[in-house]
Amino acid sequence: MKVIKRDGTIVPFDFSKIESAVNKAFNSVHNCDAPEDFIDYLKVTSSTFEEDMSVEDIQKFVIYSLGEFKYYDVQIAYTEYRYKHTEERLIKERILYMKNYQLNGENAATSSASDPNANITLKNVANMESEVYKPTNRRTQRIMLYDEILKLYGKELADQYIKDLTSHIIYTHDEASTPVLKNYCEAVTLYPLLFGSDSLDGTKTESPEHLHSFCGQLVNATFLLASQCKGAVAFGEFFNFFDHFAVMDYGEDYDLIENEFADTEVVKKRKTIGEKIIQQFQYIVCNWNQPAGNRGAQSPFTNISYYDENYWHAMFDEFVFPDGSKPLWRRIDYLQRKFIHWFNDYRSRTLLTFPVETMALLTDGKDVIDKAYKDLTTEMYAKGHSFFTYLSDNPDSLASCCRLRNQINENVFSFTNGLTGVQTGSCNVITINLNRLTQNAVKENHDLGAAFNDVKEVLTEVVERIHKYHIAYKTMLYEWEANGMFTASKAGYISMQKLYSTVGLNGINEAAEFLGMKCSYNEDYKNFCQLITGTISELNHKNSTKKFQFNSEFVPAESLSSKNYNWDLQDGYWVPSDRNLYNSYFYLASDPNTSILDRFKLHGREFTGKLDGGVGLHCNLDEHLSQKQYEYLINYAIEVGCSYFTFNIPNCQCDDCGHIEKHHFGVCPKCGSENTTDWTRIIGYLRPVPKFDKERYKEALTRVYHPASNLKC
Ligand SMILES: [Zn+2]
Repeated sequence: MKVIKRDGTIVPFDFSKIESAVNKAFNSVHNCDAPEDFIDYLKVTSSTFEEDMSVEDIQKFVIYSLGEFKYYDVQIAYTEYRYKHTEERLIKERILYMKNYQLNGENAATSSASDPNANITLKNVANMESEVYKPTNRRTQRIMLYDEILKLYGKELADQYIKDLTSHIIYTHDEASTPVLKNYCEAVTLYPLLFGSDSLDGTKTESPEHLHSFCGQLVNATFLLASQCKGAVAFGEFFNFFDHFAVMDYGEDYDLIENEFADTEVVKKRKTIGEKIIQQFQYIVCNWNQPAGNRGAQSPFTNISYYDENYWHAMFDEFVFPDGSKPLWRRIDYLQRKFIHWFNDYRSRTLLTFPVETMALLTDGKDVIDKAYKDLTTEMYAKGHSFFTYLSDNPDSLASCCRLRNQINENVFSFTNGLTGVQTGSCNVITINLNRLTQNAVKENHDLGAAFNDVKEVLTEVVERIHKYHIAYKTMLYEWEANGMFTASKAGYISMQKLYSTVGLNGINEAAEFLGMKCSYNEDYKNFCQLITGTISELNHKNSTKKFQFNSEFVPAESLSSKNYNWDLQDGYWVPSDRNLYNSYFYLASDPNTSILDRFKLHGREFTGKLDGGVGLHCNLDEHLSQKQYEYLINYAIEVGCSYFTFNIPNCQCDDCGHIEKHHFGVCPKCGSENTTDWTRIIGYLRPVPKFDKERYKEALTRVYHPASNLKC
């Protein structure tokens, strides 16, 4: 027999180690060694073990034997001794981790124990703190969910959950970030803010009565809301609320008199109304980008939405503030334009990551109906601003980037909750490794049709299981909610019922390639993508109830992509050799033969139509296009049904003089320095490339950035 040690190494079995441990336990209780007959029993019995055993198994055997011989006091001493050692070992390991974190020379993302995240700029004690207990957090989360599945569905499914996780068929997102249960991300209504923030944090703050106090309370609420979820917080009504308080300070026509002074002559540096509004934008955005102490020194992920006139009316015509006033489109239009122009300019002075912005445009299926907003969108892209566009021919869904696309089941107004349509999000995300699943399903099948059937069968089983895991997780969330643990929901910012349980997809390209297909526009690949998204969507629909709603999303998988790739590689599965992680789009981001238009087509309705939670196209370009070219691409996106996209052109900052331009430069045009840093979207959000974890960093170098000349129109 051999012994498997905790670090995985295998050593020959050595009975003297058992003897010494047992003698220590007897000595601690009875001041003498263990009786000889007991030692003989252990020796004889252990010599009959045939299979290799882990250290834990051997210890369990000793504890059991002590019980058999009725040495109960020694049994307790031995067990306590063992626990103490486990605890000491864990602490020593964590101390070593902290030492390595400081000295390993890697950035914060790469130094992460798991779930690396590029949303951290500098290593420091605050982000180190959140890393130290990630492995323990993961175990805690796992055991909690195991117990709940056991309670709801029995041991077989609970065991299967662990098996699905450890065999890397599925991955539960953000398991390690916290030991407690939290929602994944949430799009909130700001309506409760009008009743004071007492309900969110217990401080007796009154409802704001001025624009500045609103902005202050909004920032505070953002940090409080972000601390109650794992991911993003989206504000779909940001401009409506900003408008409400701007009216309180400057009157109903403030947008028409923006050049008038807002201060009296007593103030040294007098500001106009327009300047005051910009000042508040700056105040909010700069605060949103501050690292948050309770998020491991990450700033909260924030999202805001712009709407064109038609979309806005469809969403907010019913909306009324508690004082009976309503937001006015003319002023919202003014604020949205002011913000987007200001933010674009501001990013030339300092590169800020948040908020992620989404422009929602309503189409008639052929064109954007509001031409003025179509122009604004293309104008801002041409000016180098980086934001998402969401195109929909029906305002029944909202892309808040909190989750990419969410069906709005009912957009009902009430005086206690405001408009319910903006509240959405995801309470938990479990992602399927489609490459591994496909290779497990298809053993010796070379006929594509038969292979598709096999994949469908296994996929159905896995999705049915994931839905049950999700139900178990959300059941616990509901319980914690009932116990008052989510003040965000108690106060009415979010609605637990409206949060989706999300089935994520990763490795679909690699699965298709394994089956011999090319990830380009061709019938086989299209059919395969439809098979995967269609099967999941059908099951989501079938199993959704009012309390438990499912959707599916092609997850960006910032760090999961490289984990799945490496796990599969280690376990002998086929992985493509031309990349170091699984791709995050229907097209291959590293394929120079996929044109700009192909990318839109491969994210069009034929591929994404059944993906009920959506997918974001981050179209990498080497340089900014003209307004006309962007217009052409929006028209093309409408034609092929690509509903959610952004353009990603690296921005560049000089490390010496701080000069920023919205394109890459090798030598600083201002000071001539060659020390420059590129900023690009790691996946969904803008970050400096050197802050990426090492796998994403490698991948970033393989991305194809098309020059503008590749788009002929
Ligand atoms: Zn410079």
